[in-house]
Amino acid sequence: MSRIVFLNGEWLPEADAKVSIFDRGFLFADAIYEVTGVIDGKLLEYEGHAARLKRSIAELGMHLPIPTEELLDVHREIVRRNALKEGLIYLQLSRGPADRDFAFPQEPKPTLVLFTQAKSVIDNSKLATGLSVALLPDWRWERRDIKTVQLLYPSMAKMQAAEKGADDAWLVEDGFVTEASSATAHVIDRTGKLITRPLSNAILHGITRASVLDIAEQAGILYEERAFTPDEAKNAAEAFITSATNFVMPVTRIDGAPVGDGKPGPLTLKLRELYIANKTASAI
Ligand code: PLP
Repeated sequence: MSRIVFLNGEWLPEADAKVSIFDRGFLFADAIYEVTGVIDGKLLEYEGHAARLKRSIAELGMHLPIPTEELLDVHREIVRRNALKEGLIYLQLSRGPADRDFAFPQEPKPTLVLFTQAKSVIDNSKLATGLSVALLPDWRWERRDIKTVQLLYPSMAKMQAAEKGADDAWLVEDGFVTEASSATAHVIDRTGKLITRPLSNAILHGITRASVLDIAEQAGILYEERAFTPDEAKNAAEAFITSATNFVMPVTRIDGAPVGDGKPGPLTLKLRELYIANKTASAI
């Protein structure tokens, strides 16, 4: 079924939405994005995603071509026009078309695109077994806190993980896990404490991560923000990832070895349940 997409203020059938070959998103990966989950036709964690988009815009000196106040209406309208019940909204903002030059254009004409993807996000087929991950070096750039479309290395890492028979990659730098290829990585130690890497330029500031830490605290699950090693992860009681469309997903194998008893962990599943209940209740 053809979707209706949003392109710089226009609603168009997907086949009619065209972007210039000179767009800096295409030529330089000079673009940022956000992914917002949708359940029952409502947006999850919209405010967090809008705030992170604003931060990425500021970090790169970009401009939103529509008033910020209209962004929520555009998100709601795209759900309505596509009768989206469950899945995600992808938003991408690039610095727009300009003759090819490394320097940013003096008068940028940003490109703003939104489209939907229907997807079953609550009933994830991987929930029963949990994910297996392969450890790979983190060869991304050093501003991972900005959500840019420079996703070639994460794509390569996912391909390498698949070649090793794993579902995804956890990336390692200077002896510590940074994050998963497209999600935040967490472990739960044998005392039941959640351990997650602190925010810095080394990782994306996950919106789901922040909410899960709040939810853990409310549920009496202690947490510590510090970097952890691959060995700690392999010897943890539980491991999981968080992201806008995975919510909280168990990780049950790291480099082929089982984490804990090799089954999705009870605290991980509890956090998933609490996260989904809390965020669907506050969806807008
Ligand atoms: N880390 C990386 C590298 C990601 O690509 C993502 C999501 O795309 C996340 C973490 C999780 O962020 P969020 O919870 O905001 O979806």
